[in-house]
Amino acid sequence: MEIVIGRKADNGQLKIAVEGRPERGVGAMGSVPPTVSRSHFSLQPDDKGGYKLTNLNPANETLVNGVSVETTHVKSGDRIELGASRYLFDWKHLDQVVPKQADISPLEAIWDSYQQRRMKMQIRQGRLNAVGRVAGVISMAGTVFAVVGENSDWRLILLISAIVLSVLLSAVTFINASKTPKLMAELDKEFQLTYTCPSCGVFMGNQPYHVLKQRPSCPYCKAKFVDLNS
Ligand SMILES: [Zn+2]
Repeated sequence: MEIVIGRKADNGQLKIAVEGRPERGVGAMGSVPPTVSRSHFSLQPDDKGGYKLTNLNPANETLVNGVSVETTHVKSGDRIELGASRYLFDWKHLDQVVPKQADISPLEAIWDSYQQRRMKMQIRQGRLNAVGRVAGVISMAGTVFAVVGENSDWRLILLISAIVLSVLLSAVTFINASKTPKLMAELDKEFQLTYTCPSCGVFMGNQPYHVLKQRPSCPYCKAKFVDLNS
């Protein structure tokens, strides 16, 4: 989730534009000087519990705790000043705009489906491994029967059948061997893209939904977790 902050050109309010939502003007009209540009800097929640700040144009000037920066890590409360007139960014404006609640109830179905599909793939892989073992047993048994049998025609037929069958089963196992890891990787990727904080979009990790639900808030964007289904 990217939050772009600057000056609203029409009324001089502070502009806060949260990705995917209409931009908002906060604070008094005319309170932001024209030396602050329309898209001055952006904030992206990061995994350190703060934000990645990016100065959006080389012509802009963004100072964090007195130091001019292009990109840096900031946390709520850091002193951010903008433009030649050193307009002081007020963090409480951000709190007004960025939603402080995240409804995590849709993640329950995503977690359950992920677990079920993973389990199915593991069962499938287990069956394939069994087929591979059967191939080994058949070729061994066929060879043994062929050697100890009395009728030579039968021995030949048995031996050829055993070889053909074990080759076929081995081929099936071989072809499918690479399939499961690929499907697993695809499933994991999809899970990582969907099992995310509804507020900031950061992946919530491989923690079961009932564990996630115990957490009071998102560790990345601090949005309070709520389950509107329960
Ligand atoms: Zn979040």
